[in-house]
Amino acid sequence: MIIGKLKYEEDILEGLLRVAKENEIKEGAVFLIGAVKEAVIGYYNQEEKKYSHINLPYPMEIVSGIGNISLKDGDVFVHIHISLSDDKGDVKGGHLMVGTRVFACEYIILPSAGLNLKRAYDNKTGLFLFKD
Ligand code: ZN
Repeated sequence: MIIGKLKYEEDILEGLLRVAKENEIKEGAVFLIGAVKEAVIGYYNQEEKKYSHINLPYPMEIVSGIGNISLKDGDVFVHIHISLSDDKGDVKGGHLMVGTRVFACEYIILPSAGLNLKRAYDNKTGLFLFKD
């Protein structure tokens, strides 16, 4: 298990990728809590098979971040879903996108070497899902 914090103002996805590479993690589970200065989350339109971006350009709490690390086309790939609360306690959430900057972010990574988690394109969903 690896526990640590991302850097102030670091992009969460880029920071987790950095940590995974520094620790030679190619697969595993990820958990996050903390706060962000701003965020971009995605919503996957199932009919159009593409993500729309939702910009949240204000500070929020990370109520919960959960996801995984796997290999996509041979590269380490970080997939996170996140719930964020504003100053009223209202929560928004979705697929974490690049553009989400850390105020404070603590992570737990549970490496799972040996599962051989690889992604492949899935025709039905248009997503890169775990290979069967
Ligand atoms: Zn997702």
